[in-house]
Amino acid sequence: MLLILALGFQERTDTKEAREKMVRSQIKARGITNGFTLEAMRNVPRHLFVPEDLISSAYFDSPLPIGHGQTISQPYIVAFMTETIQPKKDFKVLEIGTGSGYQAAILAHIVDSVYTIEIVEALYVQAKKRLRDLNYDNTLVKYADGYHGWEEKGPFDAIVVTAAAEFVPPPLIEQLKDGGKMIIPIGTPFTTQQLLLIEKKGAKIKTKNLMFVRFVPFTRAKDQ
Ligand code: SAH
Repeated sequence: MLLILALGFQERTDTKEAREKMVRSQIKARGITNGFTLEAMRNVPRHLFVPEDLISSAYFDSPLPIGHGQTISQPYIVAFMTETIQPKKDFKVLEIGTGSGYQAAILAHIVDSVYTIEIVEALYVQAKKRLRDLNYDNTLVKYADGYHGWEEKGPFDAIVVTAAAEFVPPPLIEQLKDGGKMIIPIGTPFTTQQLLLIEKKGAKIKTKNLMFVRFVPFTRAKDQ
């Protein structure tokens, strides 16, 4: 009994330490300073968002495969995207590309509500269960083509797109609040893309190039 307890404790200490190290050496070291973002990265158990055989790699400085040709993003990219939208507690955020559910959990740790859309049914089912099991009760997951956004739940304070599109889907711009921010990788699939910050100010749309990134492609539902 004592041994089991000890092992359980050991496990929790190890993963907590791995996260501390990840935040120190990958996130803070590269200039992320937003307190909410750092706190979320320290707390969300990334190892529970990767396939079982990759648990020991969960805190590596890289993306990891999650099946169906998709990936969980590198921790730094998740932190960077989170910091860039300048999340506040009362925010309502839309994410396109649920994948593992990790980015959604990071956002859910900070903001009031997270709406996230996934186009691969198996990933949707898995992420929905995972987010429920881990008590991220302020997340709602939908199985759909995120191109159309989630009109009934909008407008959003911020939109985070985690798949590379060739252009910014107009419905997403529409569903952004005045003063809202969207972060989205734009470019040709399977090459490098530009991570863009889009800010909506009245009728004006301001766009800024942030960095080169490599994301999986933004796909479209076949019947559209
Ligand atoms: N945010 C995810 C990263 C997932 S990778 C995480 O934290 O794990 C990008 C995801 O976008 C993939 O799961 C892919 O299936 C999904 N995707 C691609 N095109 C999409 C679309 N049109 N609508 C919704 N999801 C899409």
